[in-house]
Order: sequence, then C-alpha cells, then structure tokens
Amino acid sequence: MEKLIIEKSRPGRRGYTLPQLDVPVAELSNLVPDKFLRKSEPNLPEISENEVSRHYVKLSKLNYSIEDGVYPLGSCTMKYNPKVNEKVASMPGFAEIHPCSQDEHVQGALRVLYECGEFLKEVTGLQGVTLQPSAGSQGELTGILLFRAYHKDRGDDKRNVILIPDSAHGTNPASAAIAGFQVVTVNSLPDGRIDIDDLRSKANDTVAGFMITNPNTVGVFETNIREIEQIIHGCGGLMYMDGANLNALLGIVRPGDMGFDCVHINLHKTFSTPHGGGGPGSGPICVSEKLIPFLPVPQVRKEGDKFIIVRDTEKTIGSMHAFFGNYGVVVRAYTYMRMLGRENLRRISENAIINANYLMKLIEHEYLMPFKEFCMHEFVCSADYQKEYGVSAKDIAKRLLDYGFHAPTIYFPLIVHEAMLVEPTETESKENLELFAEALIKISNEAKTNKELVLSAPTTTPVRRLDDALAARKLNVKW
Ligand SMILES: *Cc1c(COP(=O)(O)O)cnc(C)c1O
Repeated sequence: MEKLIIEKSRPGRRGYTLPQLDVPVAELSNLVPDKFLRKSEPNLPEISENEVSRHYVKLSKLNYSIEDGVYPLGSCTMKYNPKVNEKVASMPGFAEIHPCSQDEHVQGALRVLYECGEFLKEVTGLQGVTLQPSAGSQGELTGILLFRAYHKDRGDDKRNVILIPDSAHGTNPASAAIAGFQVVTVNSLPDGRIDIDDLRSKANDTVAGFMITNPNTVGVFETNIREIEQIIHGCGGLMYMDGANLNALLGIVRPGDMGFDCVHINLHKTFSTPHGGGGPGSGPICVSEKLIPFLPVPQVRKEGDKFIIVRDTEKTIGSMHAFFGNYGVVVRAYTYMRMLGRENLRRISENAIINANYLMKLIEHEYLMPFKEFCMHEFVCSADYQKEYGVSAKDIAKRLLDYGFHAPTIYFPLIVHEAMLVEPTETESKENLELFAEALIKISNEAKTNKELVLSAPTTTPVRRLDDALAARKLNVKW
C-alpha cells in the first residue's frame, strides 16, 4: 500500500519558498486571545514539492473515472464531461464573484442563471423554475414541500400521503418522509410499468401527490403516463417526476406535456458535471403554473433588459440553499447547452437510447433480460443464469474491475432479482460498447467453467474485496 503523506514527512523538508519578510513580526498573542492559541506546532507533513507531486499523481491513478474508460453505472448518467465546461466555470467573472455583489455589478452572472432556468423550462415544458437545490434528492424535497404548501394554501389539510412505485430510487420515499408525508407503495407489473389498478385503488382524497421516474428505473417508458396523470389529478393530487433519467427524453418528450406539476433535473447527470465523488451537484426543479407562487427565494427575474434579484415573495416556502445554489454546476450546464444547441440536445438522447439497445442486444444471449422490449437509455439485466453456477451480480461486478471497466449499478432496482442496471450513455463509441459486452460475456463463461476466478475477483486492483458492511458501520477516516 502507498504510504500516507504524513508517513512520508521528514522534519525540515519543504515544498515551498516564501519571500523575505519585509514587515515586523506580529506577536500572535496580541491578535488572538491566549486560550485559542495552540501550545504546540500542528502536525503537518513536511515534504518536498517533487514528493507532493508524485504522491498525488499516484493517488489519482488509483481512481477510476470516465477519463479512464467505460463507466456504465445505471441511473447515474456517467457521460464524458466536455472540458470546455470546466474552462468556462473557472473564468474569474464566474468563479470569483462575491455572492453578496450588487445586482448591477453581476448582470452577466445573473443572465446565466436566468437563461439556464429558461432553457430548463423549455426542456421540461413547464412554467416555473428554481436552480437552488444542490442535488436531485434536494430537488425532490423542494418539490414535495411545494406540494404541501399548495394544498395547505387551498385549505386542503387532509392530504398526508405520497404514492411511490416499488421500483423507485430510495431518495423518493426519503424525501416524502422528510417533508412529513406517509409513503404508500404502488406495485409494478411484470413488464416493469405501474400497476394502474393498484394505483387507482390507492388514489383518494388523502393523496398529496405521486412521485414517478420516467423512463422508470428499469429503463422502460411509462406508456400509460396520461392515464396515470388523470387518476392522480382526478383525486386532487399532484404529479412529481424524478428526472434522473432525463438523458432519455431531451427534445423528444417533455414532462410538462405528460402532465407533471414538478420535475427535478440532475444537472450533474444529464447536463454534464463530473460527479460520483460526492459533489457538488445541482438539482433544479421546474414546476407548473399552480406551484409558482410557492417557489424558493431568491429568484432572478428579467425586467426590460436588466436582471434583478427578488429576495422575498408572499407565499414562498423560503430558501433551500444559500444564494442561488451551486453556481459552478449551473455554469457548466449552461455552457453544455449553449455548445450543443437545440438539435444536438435531442441527439444526446437518441444516441444514448441507441447505445443502450445495442449493448443489450450484444449480451442478451448470456444474461437474463427480465423486460423483453426495447429499452430507453439504460437497461436492467439479471445475473440469475450465472447464479445457478454460484456467481452473483456482485461477483460479476467485481470481475469487471479486473477487465478494466467500472461496474454497472447492482441490486437496484429492488424489484429485479440479482439486478444489474447498465447505462452506457451517448458518449461511448461502438468499439467501446463491444469491448464491454465482450468482457461481460467472458465473465459469464468463466462462471460456468472457472468460477473461482470470478469469486476471487478483483485481483488487479489496489485492494481486493472489502468488508463493505464493516466500512459503513465502523467508519474510520482518521490517521
Ligand atoms: C441519482 C438519482 C436520484 C438522486 O439524485 P442526486 O442528485 O444523487 O441526489 C434520484 N432518483 C434517481 C432515479 C436517481 O438516479
């Protein structure tokens, strides 16, 4: 194992030089009360520039990223993120502005916020927007708080239920519960879609709303969405779309046209910010006319050719984030959309769908496909065939690492046994998809002929199999 940087430290070694001091030395105790002064020097690594550089380059090589290769992590949209996004986001006019600047001094920065919001309204076919939430999950919470405010404002106090399909991402029920609602689960049918009869039996005047992902988490489009919308609106509820799978819909179908009142957009997924290391992300929501009065503040509006900040509104739910959210992620999304333009946004989704279907075809003779139809931008397969030889989805995921690929999402969605959720995205070439399929097929053959190889994987990574339960329960990040 690579040593920690503190273990490489040697007293007196330096990686910097400071200019000669040309002012009197300040007496610290005159500046900071004595009780706050440390009694001994901090234990910081002392190391040369050369060693610092090598240390971090080595660490970066232990990581796997979209810059290394295929990253088919289903539901996460790990697409290649164009470098121009980074370049624009790091321009001083964006990166170094103070969040408390006067409106008239930061018109360009406000314009980016305003126009990014307008683009998202167009993409989703909805009428209102906030860019504040810092992740999809916080967008969910914001949306459900808007639902609550809407019902309350009408004096409709008995609605305490949010309906959610059994295939939903875990953040959906978590958001509904944090917002104070009771979660009632709606079943899926064997084809992966919502069971309309089950939905109808649960739709009543206690329902505040329905949260659904479309295309859903098994990669299938909810073709009955219009009927679903009529059932929910018919009982006085509101429609929430988890927009994590928007990479399948750009320029093709709009949530507003499907009857949704609210959708979050994971900018870091669909609109390309590097993610997967824990952030920062951004989860704007777009809303229908009836939710606009309750949107968070502050908001950017356009008056004539000026952009102004509105700091309070009569019925707002308040703020979900300081200032305007994670601004740098918004700049990246804006850059990405401006670089591509309307026509090419649609091609993102078309190519994502073609790639997923091609990959699915390449492996369908080796892996069980629980849903026998075309997929959208991702598909779910199962390791049930391999399970007969004693090899699980987790084993296959580990073995993929030996072949130099990131694993797909496994054991999600929960409704599929031994699930592997594969999302290649539009940014993989045909050759890369074929290489990835070849690895999956080889692993399936290994499961039949040499399963020890698969069960002992990974063998080429810096660490082998970790006890993931122990790491989660007894987290120790201290040296
Ligand atoms: C990623 C994802 C979320 C949560 O989004 P974050 O930005 O990670 O908070 C919610 N639902 C689905 C289906 C997702 O894939």
